[in-house]
Amino acid sequence: MKTQKFQVPDWTYEFHGHQCPFMPIGYRMGVVAMEKLGIERCKDHELHVLSEMGVGHPQGCMQDGIMSSTGATFGKGLIEKLNYGKVAATFWYPGKGGVRFFLKNEFQEKLAPHDFFKYRKKGVEPSDIPTEVSQDIIDIVLTASIDELFTIEMLPNFNYTPVKGSFAKAKCEVCDEYTFERYLRVKEGKKVCIPCSNQEPTEHVFYHPITENK
Ligand SMILES: [Zn+2]
Ligand SMILES: [Zn+2]
Repeated sequence: MKTQKFQVPDWTYEFHGHQCPFMPIGYRMGVVAMEKLGIERCKDHELHVLSEMGVGHPQGCMQDGIMSSTGATFGKGLIEKLNYGKVAATFWYPGKGGVRFFLKNEFQEKLAPHDFFKYRKKGVEPSDIPTEVSQDIIDIVLTASIDELFTIEMLPNFNYTPVKGSFAKAKCEVCDEYTFERYLRVKEGKKVCIPCSNQEPTEHVFYHPITENK
């Protein structure tokens, strides 16, 4: 059976800034995640995404695709980055559990030898790569079947507790700048912001995506 070519809207490339394979991979991942969870594109603060990507590897573009298709954006506080260095993400919706996606090793191996990455390894930025080369690798992504792309694991018992939103803030007693309450620290009896306290920020999310919440 011939796989139909998936369509990614043009505005997503404009938003992302260049033509690359990982943005459309993330877009498709988000579309299937919404289907699996039985939800629509998120207008407010419902869906949460735990991205396993880190820094210093180019596949991070995937997250712009996830944001584009699902509406779960960094700005709305709906993506947490776990920094595990994997092309994977878990999607959670209140009352519906979660679903984890991993870009199959075989598909990662299929993309790796493509000319697109030969250019990238030479330091050529994606927008300077010849269009026919980037279009060819994007077409590989858009014609792949879901089964060829992803390992998908339904996590019906997966639960996540998002941080509760609050407008409460106070002025740091050292620099006088408004700081949201959960980020105020006490130093020598004064309520101060994190930089003025010389403390490390403590926000981080950790979970083991494979063994937890089964
Ligand atoms: Zn990109
Ligand atoms: Zn301060």
